Amino acid sequence: MGVKRVLVFAGKLGYQTRSFDEAARKLGVALTFVTDRCHQLEDPWGDRAIPVHFESPEAAAYTVLEAVRAGERVDGILALGDRPAVAAAYAAAVEACRNKLRMREVFRDAGLRVPWFRGVALRPAPEPALLGISYPCVLKPVSLSASQGVVRANDREEFLAAAERVQRVLESPEVLASREAHLDEMIVEGYIAGKEVAVEGLLIDGTLRVLAIFDKPDPLEGPYFEETIYVTPSRLPEAQQREIERCAAEAVRALGLSQGPVHAEFRINEDGVWPLEVAPRPIGGLCARALRFVGDASDEAIGLEELLLRQAVEMPFENWKREAAASGVMMIPVPSSGVLESVEGAELAGAIPHIVGLEITARLHDYIAAWPEGSSYLGFLFARAEAAEEVEGALQAAHGKLRFAIRARLAVEHPGTRRVVG
Ligand code: ADP
Repeated sequence: MGVKRVLVFAGKLGYQTRSFDEAARKLGVALTFVTDRCHQLEDPWGDRAIPVHFESPEAAAYTVLEAVRAGERVDGILALGDRPAVAAAYAAAVEACRNKLRMREVFRDAGLRVPWFRGVALRPAPEPALLGISYPCVLKPVSLSASQGVVRANDREEFLAAAERVQRVLESPEVLASREAHLDEMIVEGYIAGKEVAVEGLLIDGTLRVLAIFDKPDPLEGPYFEETIYVTPSRLPEAQQREIERCAAEAVRALGLSQGPVHAEFRINEDGVWPLEVAPRPIGGLCARALRFVGDASDEAIGLEELLLRQAVEMPFENWKREAAASGVMMIPVPSSGVLESVEGAELAGAIPHIVGLEITARLHDYIAAWPEGSSYLGFLFARAEAAEEVEGALQAAHGKLRFAIRARLAVEHPGTRRVVG
């Protein structure tokens, strides 16, 4: 999986960094220096340092991760001295959130529940018998999102087919164009049975405030894991919800996140709460529309965006709470890959009681991929009602009214080439 690389955040480049260079050469590890002393750069081995300003640690972390994004993997981050330490901590937190393998390591080291996991190179094709894998397991890209390329395997045959499929996703022109790191490897881990929830939260000076716990009532058992329905408030027992909140707080602490929006996924079974993933960002797509917040002084509800902006500019926001109503969103799954020819039934769907919105975001006559190749939904349905059951029922019923005509593309094989005809 290539040479390991460590980012070294250093205020000065001199004797100390040269010693690191020597140690790294001995270990066969590559170093990338990050410094604000570029004009003094002593560069005996031709390492190119990334120039930053440590006084703005968040901006420095951003610059660094943008700079390495297009290039190599990052296996470790070190800060030399106090000045670069904050920028290095930010970079490490963001990097861990972008790398599923590192996230598992961070969670394991923090004593959180993690399944067995390992990083596996995609070429040559992996042989599961040699990897000490048990079934069922989940194969997934290290750095993609939205469940793209995530596949469950129940036996060796399924594993081999899944590994090939993950490889094809990672080698697709769209994914290669993203220039993400780690496109040559995947993470394989134990399948965690159980219910799944999503948590939307806000970190305020290191303390996590949970804004909503969303149940995901449709079973997510694979082989692919596209999302469908999110409903809040959760119908899980109070004690379990508190346990989820505790686990979320520990997970964000372990990652070193301290400020701003957090979106996280958890599984719950008889062993307890398992953090699947934590992302330092708000809920994606149009799903944030399912969240409205009311304050003490005003009846007018505000959206998640306003809440986040209020926090960002230090306007009062702490008294806003999610509204009393139950609310939910359905990410409309893609039943099969192909060209979207028509959408029917929108009016019927919109007329279902408690449905408050429908947005078809896929464009007519465009190709849309189903999971695991896919990563975007046909659209979003929204419902609001007194009870969570009503919200779930409305979303199901409205989805039942929608008809999507998707025309499969024919794959035509020619010797030596592969052409897809629309
Ligand atoms: P992504 O960032 O692409 O969404 P995740 O790691 O969150 O990747 O996985 C996507 C979905 O796949 C999860 O929401 C979950 O439903 C399923 N999944 C991932 N890993 C596991 C696992 N170890 N056990 C069971 N389900 C899993």
